[in-house]
Amino acid sequence: MQTHILGYPRIGSNRELKKACEQYWSGKNELQDLLQAGKKSRWENWNLQKEEGIDLVPCNDFSYYDQVLDMTLSVGAIPERYREIEGKSGLTNLDLYFAMARGYQKEGLDITAMEMTKWFDTNYHYIVPEFSKNQNFKLNSNKILGEFVEAKGAGVNPKPVVIGLVTYLLLGKEKEEGFDKIDLVDKLLPVYLDLLSHLQKEGAEWIQFDEPFLALDLNEKTREAFTFVYGEIRKKFPDLKFIIATYFEGLKDNLGLSLKLPVDVLHIDLVRCPSQLDQVLDDIPNGLNLSLGILDGRNIWKNDFENSLRLIQKAQDKLGSDRLLIAPSCSLLHVPYDLEVETEINPEIKNWMAFARQKVKELKTLQALATGRTEEHLLNEFKENLEAVKSRKTSSLIHNKNVKDGVDQISIKDTQRDNPFSSRKIQQQKVLGLPRFSTTTIGSFPQTKEVRSWRAQFKKGKLSPEQYDGLLKKETEKAIEWQEKIGLDVLVHGEYERNDMVEYFGEQLDGFLFTKRAWVQSYGSRCVKPPIVYGDVSRPKAMTVYWSKYAQSLTSKWVKGMLTGPVTILQWSFVRDDQPRSITCRQIALAIRKEVLDLEQAGIQIIQIDEPAIREGLPLRKSDWKNYLNWAIDCFKIASSGVKDSTQIHTHMCYSEFNDIMESIAFMDADVITIECSRSQMELLEAFSNFNYPNEIGPGVYDIHSPRVPSTEEMLILLEKAQKVIPADQLWVNPDCGLKTRKWEETEEALKAMVEAAKMARTSV
Ligand code: GLN
Ligand code: ZN
Repeated sequence: MQTHILGYPRIGSNRELKKACEQYWSGKNELQDLLQAGKKSRWENWNLQKEEGIDLVPCNDFSYYDQVLDMTLSVGAIPERYREIEGKSGLTNLDLYFAMARGYQKEGLDITAMEMTKWFDTNYHYIVPEFSKNQNFKLNSNKILGEFVEAKGAGVNPKPVVIGLVTYLLLGKEKEEGFDKIDLVDKLLPVYLDLLSHLQKEGAEWIQFDEPFLALDLNEKTREAFTFVYGEIRKKFPDLKFIIATYFEGLKDNLGLSLKLPVDVLHIDLVRCPSQLDQVLDDIPNGLNLSLGILDGRNIWKNDFENSLRLIQKAQDKLGSDRLLIAPSCSLLHVPYDLEVETEINPEIKNWMAFARQKVKELKTLQALATGRTEEHLLNEFKENLEAVKSRKTSSLIHNKNVKDGVDQISIKDTQRDNPFSSRKIQQQKVLGLPRFSTTTIGSFPQTKEVRSWRAQFKKGKLSPEQYDGLLKKETEKAIEWQEKIGLDVLVHGEYERNDMVEYFGEQLDGFLFTKRAWVQSYGSRCVKPPIVYGDVSRPKAMTVYWSKYAQSLTSKWVKGMLTGPVTILQWSFVRDDQPRSITCRQIALAIRKEVLDLEQAGIQIIQIDEPAIREGLPLRKSDWKNYLNWAIDCFKIASSGVKDSTQIHTHMCYSEFNDIMESIAFMDADVITIECSRSQMELLEAFSNFNYPNEIGPGVYDIHSPRVPSTEEMLILLEKAQKVIPADQLWVNPDCGLKTRKWEETEEALKAMVEAAKMARTSV
C-alpha cells in the first residue's frame, strides 16, 4: 500500500510567493527573486513530503498563478491578442503568462486579461482557456518537464500532476460559434503524447492525470472522448503508470466508464462519496489499482482513523494491499499549510483540526496502521486520534441546546412574509416615498489605505477602541454627507468597520473561530483566510445595529442596513463535517434573522442581505440541485421574513447566470434584488423578464471591477435596454457591486454620472 498526495499548497507557508509575485508585478524585485521564491516553495513541499516518507510526491502542482493557465501555456493555447507580447523584446514567457492572467496595460498596449471562474465547487478561481474554431496546440513550455527533473534532484519519487486532456478542454470556453470544444481532442492529443514522451525520456514512471469531470454529468460524446484519449495514450506508452484522479463527487453513472479506462490507478473521492467504495470494489477489473481518497482535502478537520481504517480494510480484503494507494481526497491546495503556527486557537478545538502538513502525517500513520504495524508511537497516535474524535463529538463547546431547539422549531411561517409582494410594495411606497429609478449603491465605499491601517493599528492595540471608533465615525459621516451631495436616494453607511463581508460577521457569532495565518489561495496572489465554523452558531449580541443606526441618525434620507446572508457565510467558511451543511446554514440564518429584526427595531426601514454565493453553491451534479436550492433559499427566507411588510428587504448577487434557477430566485421573494449586469449589457436581465419576475430589480449599470469611469450616456443606454424587458416601475439604478476596491475620485465621478442617468430616465417615462 502506497501513499501519495494529489497536490500541495504553493503560495508559501508565509505567503512568500504571493509577496514575491506582487513585488515583481510592481517592479520592486527582479525576475531572479521571483524564481527563487518559486523554487523555495517547491523544495519546501518536496522536503516535507520526503521527510514524512510519502511514496509518490507530486510535481507540477506548483504554479506562479494558476495550474490551468500553466497548462494553457504548456499546450500553446495562447489567445491571439497576446501575440504582440509574445514578440516583444525584454519580456519573458513568465511575463506573457502574467499578462494572460492579469491583462497588460503598458507601453501603448492595452490587452485584457483572460476570464477567471471558480474551480468546480471550490473558492479557488482558475483562468479559463479560450478556444477558437481553428485552434492549434503545440508543446510550448518546459514547465512540467523542468519541475519533474528538479523534483528528482530533490530526492523524491516525483509524480507529475497534469490536468487530464478531457478535463482541460471542458474547462475552456469556445470563443466563437460553430464548433464543439470536445472536438479539439484530436488536435490536442499529439501535444499530450509529445509531453509524455519527454517525461518518459527523463525517467518518469508515474503520471497523474486530473480528470474531475469524470465525477460530473457527462454527455455521450465526452464519454467517448475519455475512452479514446486514454486508449491512445496507453497504446503509445505501455510502460508508464497512469493515475486518473477524480474528486469533488462520486463517479456514479460514470463509474463503468472510469473503471474501463486502460490506466493503472483510479483515484476516487471517499470523503464526498464514501458510499461509492462498495460498487467500485465489486466492479473493478483485475488490471486496475485503486487510490482511496480518504483524508478531506477540502476541510480542516482531523481524520477519523477508525472510520478510514474500516474503509481501507474493506478495500484490502477485496484487493490486497499491493493494489491500493491512499491519499487525501483531492489536492491540498484548498487547505492552509500548517496548524502548528496557530498558537491562539483554543487547544481543545485545535486538537480536532488538521491542515496540509498534519494531513500528510495522518496519511503516513494510516498507512502504517492499515498494514498492521504496531510500534508504540503508532498505537499512541491511534489512541490520541480516537480521543480527539470522541472529544469533538461530545464537547460542550460545540453543542448548544438552545440553538438546536431554535432550528427544530423553525416553521413554514418563519419562512414567509406576512403578505405577497404586490401588497408589500404599496405599503413600502407609502413609508419610503422613493422616486422611480431610485438610486443606491451595493454597500461598501472605498477602503482606503488609512481605513485599513486604522484597523491594523486597532488590532495591534496601537489605537484604543475609542480612537478607532471615532475615526470610523468620521469616515461614516463623510460618506453620508458625500452621498447626500451626490444626490443618491438610498444611502449606505459604507462598511468601513468591515475587513471582509464574511469575516466581520463570523467574528461576532458564537461557534466561529479565526486563524492568524491559515491562508488559502483564492486566485493568483490573492489569498483568503476562511473562518471556521466549529460549533452551533448563535448571535450573542447585535452586530451591525450600531453603525446602521449611527448612519441613519445623520441624515433624513433612508440608510440601508447591510448584512451578509447565511448561504454566503456558510459557503465562504470551513464548516462542520459532523452535521449536514443545511443545518449549519439554518443556525446561521436564525442568527441573521435576529439581526434583521434588531435593525428594524432600531428604525432601519431598508435592509440588504447579500447572497453572492447562492449560485456558486449549486452542487456539481444537477440531480442534487433541487435539494440544495430548497434549503439554501429556505435559509435566506428564514433570515429575511421576520420583518413587517413595510420594511423593504434587498438582496444582492454578483455576476451569475440566473436562467436555470429563476424559480428559486423568485421564491426568495426579496423586495429588491440588485445584480451584476453591466458587462453582459443587461443580457442577464432576460432571465427575469422571461420569468415575469414581479419584484423590483437593480441591474448594475456600471462595472466596478475597472477604474474606468462610465459616462451618463452609456448608463442611460443600459437603462433603456433594461426598460425594454422590465417595467420601469420595477427598476432601481445602482453599480454592479460594492465599491470597496475603487478610488474615491473614480467613485465620485461614476456615481454623479449614474445619478444624472437616473434623473434623465425619470423624465423620459
Ligand atoms: N455589500 C457588499 C459590498 O458592497 C457586497 C459585496 C459582494 O457582493 N461581494 O462590498
Ligand atoms: Zn457583488
